[in-house]
Amino acid sequence: MKMKAAVVTAASDGNVEIVERDIRPIQSGEALVEVEYCGVCHTDLHVAAGDYGKKPGRVLGHEGIGIVKEVAPDVKNLKPGDRVSIAWLFASCGSCEYCVSGRETFCRSVLNAGYTADGGMATHCIVDADYAVKVPDGLDPAQASSITCAGVTTYKAIKVSGVRPGQWIAIYGAGGLGNLAVQYAKKVFGAHVVAVDINDDKLALAKEVGADFTVNPLKEDAAKAIQEKTGGAHAAVVTAVSRAAFNSAVDCLRACGRLVAVGLPPEMMDLSIPRLVLDGIEVVGSLVGTREDLVEAFQFGAEGLVVPKVQLRKLDEANAIFQEMRDGKIQGRMVIDMKACGCGHAH
Ligand SMILES: [Zn+2]
Ligand SMILES: [Zn+2]
Repeated sequence: MKMKAAVVTAASDGNVEIVERDIRPIQSGEALVEVEYCGVCHTDLHVAAGDYGKKPGRVLGHEGIGIVKEVAPDVKNLKPGDRVSIAWLFASCGSCEYCVSGRETFCRSVLNAGYTADGGMATHCIVDADYAVKVPDGLDPAQASSITCAGVTTYKAIKVSGVRPGQWIAIYGAGGLGNLAVQYAKKVFGAHVVAVDINDDKLALAKEVGADFTVNPLKEDAAKAIQEKTGGAHAAVVTAVSRAAFNSAVDCLRACGRLVAVGLPPEMMDLSIPRLVLDGIEVVGSLVGTREDLVEAFQFGAEGLVVPKVQLRKLDEANAIFQEMRDGKIQGRMVIDMKACGCGHAH
């Protein structure tokens, strides 16, 4: 049996090629998934460009959703017909201090889909069955693909922020992640939300999905505006990939506020030590989410509290989507519809 997949080019030059490959037989603990949808994430751009080390031939994709076609005889948690995720957390060791204490995304021998393991940007994907999270009934599979990375990442970050109902949280960056962060913060955690972005269209969308107010730092000092309107945010989640956003987020917090870092700008942030000490500011990183976090994030989607904005595309358009992402043209999430792959196979 053959599959069609978007793989990193031999030169790891930031593009992908669409190739046809044999599907190998599954082994102990594995399941074969026929992929329905796979979202495109900025991380895919980095892997394709070799920013985390060259990965020629790697199948991209960690926002995959598909139907289980076959399971190895020892697999107990899945059966053919189940709808499951193919997430960044592809597998972990299961026995280290991080894995046994609910922090499995920090396992030192973790495997990541579309990076260190072949991912979901393909018509088929072989997964470690223990790490394929079931998608609840009532959740649209294309929307589920967006929750598999962007959704769970922001849901987890807000959990890590410790924000409580009625408190203020600032979401820096209102793009694919930020838009979902606003929804989880408002609808699930009951927080008051301010969204910060340099793009007015993204701010308008943030307002639509629940932001109490928005700030464009190109027009006014975001930290100052937030301090004036809220007395300082109790927490800030930074999905923006900019040093300026991180610096502003520290300044927008009230005493004992917590900044949760999600975006990965390559620069350093400025941290005033007196500000940390005298105001008791906390700064912490948050990395995607565990399987349990994904179960929860999916369920809130199935209940209609969080609605990812997705646009369906074709696998053959992968390079075009990448270019649109580099150009910052994308609102919400681009999701590849694998059934529209045009490969002519029976799937
Ligand atoms: Zn991602
Ligand atoms: Zn581990």
